[in-house]
Amino acid sequence: MPVSQTITIQDILDSRKKVMSVAYRTPLVNFGIMCRQLGKSVHLKLENLQYTGSFKLRGAINEIMNLPPSQKKMGVIAVSSGNHGKAVSFVSSKMGINSIICVSSKVPKNKIEGMKELGGRIIIAGATFDEASDYAHNIQSETGLRFLEPFDDPFLIAGQGTIGIEIVEDLPDVDIVIVPVAGGGLISGIAIALKSLKPNVKVIGVSMDTGPVMYHSLRAGRIVEMEEKDSLADALIGGIGKNNFFTFDICRKMIDDMVLVTEEEIGRAMVFLLEKFHMLVEGGAAVGVAALLANKIKINNKNVAVVITGGNVEIENTFKLYQKYMG
Ligand SMILES: *Cc1c(COP(=O)(O)O)cnc(C)c1O
Repeated sequence: MPVSQTITIQDILDSRKKVMSVAYRTPLVNFGIMCRQLGKSVHLKLENLQYTGSFKLRGAINEIMNLPPSQKKMGVIAVSSGNHGKAVSFVSSKMGINSIICVSSKVPKNKIEGMKELGGRIIIAGATFDEASDYAHNIQSETGLRFLEPFDDPFLIAGQGTIGIEIVEDLPDVDIVIVPVAGGGLISGIAIALKSLKPNVKVIGVSMDTGPVMYHSLRAGRIVEMEEKDSLADALIGGIGKNNFFTFDICRKMIDDMVLVTEEEIGRAMVFLLEKFHMLVEGGAAVGVAALLANKIKINNKNVAVVITGGNVEIENTFKLYQKYMG
């Protein structure tokens, strides 16, 4: 893959037919009508309703559908904090492609069960995302399976970018889009779409403060590595890759701001969404609402879209959170 390759709005438009042949066009709901607490102009893009329970499906579809036939035949391998693995398992099974998903021992049980149910072969390898990633790369080089990047791939980024197009279609006057960030594939795709369709839209990233690798990399102007700590936002744990080809540069150029939220703010946002919206949203997906509730993003009655990225959360743990933060 040439390092200089740029991803454009055309790539996102091109991906759309493939993505929509499998994915669901999720609604953008005016949350402000239901609940004034965040301001009347806050909208939620509900990718928690996406098949497989997260937006990761979009990128995985475009990544897999663009593989050459010989690689489809060989099979694919991925590393995942859960949701990319569910998406890869789902799309691979649908297309009759064998898939192996490497995960760390920290990945929640519900996500591992979800991947198995969808037909992926799961290997638990290492205690961190980065260890599982090294393991997957080793198998890749021994077997020749195609490695499916979880965030740093042009086809994947283009697939995630379809969310940006849908937001503009559903809310043409959008001013600010708030996006959870881990490896940055999602926010890269969305930012490319938005900055091309509506150059004045602000794109704001949110991560958890326990290990925000992209945030610190952007501040340092180079890719940093951080120790992986447990978080309610389990989907956001992990590095951005020592050899990051795309997302770091795209984020550097296109993200307007990034903010961080605490574990308590994430827990409160999950409970808030359950109480006011009757939706069970996973920690990594609740960080945008967490940042708004904590007044960390100034929205001044502007039209805001918050991407709710996924809903794959263990119910047991959510009840515990509910008891801790209700009211
Ligand atoms: C993967 C994921 C993210 C972050 O996406 P990146 O492309 O890695 O930045 C956010 N929320 C959920 C639920 C995810 O699964």
